[in-house]
Amino acid sequence: MSLLEIKQTLKHKLADTYEPIELNSIIAMLIEHVTGWDTLKQAMRKNDEIEETHVITINELADELITGKPIQYILGKTWFMGNEFLVNKSVLIPRPETEELVDWVIEYANIIQKPMQIIDIGTGSGCIAISLKRLLPSCTVTALDISEAALEVAKKNAEILNADIEWIQEDILKSNSLPLSYDIIVSNPPYIPFRETANMQVQVKKYEPSIALFVTNEDPLIFYKAIGRLGEKYLAPKGQLFFEIHHDQRKAILALFDEMGYHAEIRQDMYGKDRMLRASLKTSN
Ligand code: GLN
Repeated sequence: MSLLEIKQTLKHKLADTYEPIELNSIIAMLIEHVTGWDTLKQAMRKNDEIEETHVITINELADELITGKPIQYILGKTWFMGNEFLVNKSVLIPRPETEELVDWVIEYANIIQKPMQIIDIGTGSGCIAISLKRLLPSCTVTALDISEAALEVAKKNAEILNADIEWIQEDILKSNSLPLSYDIIVSNPPYIPFRETANMQVQVKKYEPSIALFVTNEDPLIFYKAIGRLGEKYLAPKGQLFFEIHHDQRKAILALFDEMGYHAEIRQDMYGKDRMLRASLKTSN
């Protein structure tokens, strides 16, 4: 079978599971994983015959994709801020929007230009903490998560990517202390109210860890409240909170931070959605 024929078969097989644009890049990732050919090579060699063993593996992986299992879990890895991160079902798959949150922190750090203490709350795969440590090597970075299995993945990523991080296993909703004061507290906490599951892609709701995604309909800002309260005690002078947020929660979240004594500003992501928040205590300005 030629590469082109395989691609056509896969497109046909997966047409009901994915949108056409997404499907092309998923198929290219799958083929690169099995054959080692990057997209350029795939374009140049589209008429080449693919080894029989590779064809079998590609078909087996495509069968997993049909079930809705995300390609990143099938391959066990994804890209974030230019680095490859291991992922498994214990961690959320890092999203491009979250890269924009990291960019914002870096932008701020470049203005401040001093070694800082940073903590990432709900680190998951470690993508935020590890990227920050690599891009801001003079900063001290701590990463916290409730899940031992997630921390295992994050620690492996930190080892592979050579990032020196302090780890804490803790439930942030139960803790009322942090080990130090921080110049930056960053978090991409769970923020999707359960009622939204009805409109979500099967890839997300069936395969990604609920604990990293969902909050109750009654108290969707619970993590922002808890971290905001900790910030009152554990933000260093002029310290900043950086959060990823739900695009629909702008008003409620601004009201919450104002009430808790913060100045807050919101940034939109590349899709034009309210997606990030930065806040600092009114008293520290
Ligand atoms: N942005 C993710 C999604 O839409 C959710 C991330 C989160 O809950 N922190 O699936």
